[in-house]
Amino acid sequence: MKQRSNQSWGLNTLFVHGSRQHVYGGTQGMPTVQPIFATTTYLHDSAQALDKAFDTTPMHEDGLAFVYARQGNPNAHALESVMAQAEGGTGAIVCGSGMAAIHAALLAAGLTSGSKLVAAKDLYGATINLLRQVFMPLGVEVVMGDLYGEKAGDFIREEQPDVVFVETVSNPLVKVIDLDALSAAAKEVGAVSVVDSTFATPYLVRPLEHGFDLVVHSATKYLAGHGDSTAGVVVSARNTLLDTLRNYAMLLGAALSPFESHLVIRGLRTLPLRMERQCSNALQVAQFLCGHPAVARVHYPGLPQHPQHKLASGLLAPGRFGGLLSFELKEQTREAAFRFMDSLQLCLPATTLGDVFSLVSYPPISSHRGLTREDLEKMGISEGCLRLSVGIEDVNDIMQDLDQALRV
Ligand code: PLP
Repeated sequence: MKQRSNQSWGLNTLFVHGSRQHVYGGTQGMPTVQPIFATTTYLHDSAQALDKAFDTTPMHEDGLAFVYARQGNPNAHALESVMAQAEGGTGAIVCGSGMAAIHAALLAAGLTSGSKLVAAKDLYGATINLLRQVFMPLGVEVVMGDLYGEKAGDFIREEQPDVVFVETVSNPLVKVIDLDALSAAAKEVGAVSVVDSTFATPYLVRPLEHGFDLVVHSATKYLAGHGDSTAGVVVSARNTLLDTLRNYAMLLGAALSPFESHLVIRGLRTLPLRMERQCSNALQVAQFLCGHPAVARVHYPGLPQHPQHKLASGLLAPGRFGGLLSFELKEQTREAAFRFMDSLQLCLPATTLGDVFSLVSYPPISSHRGLTREDLEKMGISEGCLRLSVGIEDVNDIMQDLDQALRV
């Protein structure tokens, strides 16, 4: 059976069939799913062919020049190819975690001693720590500002950075970024723009279409979606950036293993279905929490009172606002937050998001661990703020569980 070119496929078809082009084998008895290539090295017909393969790897479109697994393997390559198409980029690299992907992306974007980064002050806690503990000591100037406000473009124009780094949707307050305004400002000052789009996924928005240069994902979250793999992706809008990115990924040893690549590809096959359910469940849960006597405030871009509701409605897939929300308890204390978490019977009090099961986390002890109380206050994260990643369970069961835990 010949597989048709997938240039014109929609996202659902791409995720289901995209990786099948990388099965490799004859037409007789060919597996329908790509096998896991559990091998470190690859043999070639001759020393001359091996020599040539070294030159072409990891640009292995041409003659499958796999040589050594850290430089590229067929499972990782299949995932890179699907993600590049899903985001509308020229190519992608996959890494052992989202943090490894962010590290490689920032290096490829040009962060080096003496260069300047403008980043959103609301970034994921470990990303802030990467900037503070790795890039700043190396001599990178890091300026963090309010990039979710209306003056974000002006801030970039004033600061004249070399690189801009933001998240499509912030953690945990789910603020939505104006991708077009920020990429335009970055272009004006000649900065490379990088966005972490973990919370949105290409199901909700494709940042490269809004002018960004690199899009990063923690594939550990929605892309893989089943809480059983750790991975990262960077997709590039341009080949020159992609070459630099691949080189850094190889040197940093950021490679994703064939096993993990296989799991992420399996997860991707149902991404649109999962996202559809998670978005609709999240909207219902957000509305339910708004009316709950124990809840002071709900943050969800699908609610009309959310500050970026209008922006989100124009930017994200129609009628979809993501599966993530946060809410503040009326009793604004760590004790009340812990009591709530300890009382959950269905939703899992675990520190991740984007999985098929609903997950609750308390940012000061998880995603924003290591940041001071002052840092958290500046970010608007209160003592009673909890993050909820809504899963694909029956929504009434989720709401019932939240209700009983809020009443303890
Ligand atoms: N980016 C965001 C927005 C995240 O929430 C996370 C992890 O929670 C990461 C990056 C890091 O991803 P990983 O844990 O796969 O390294």
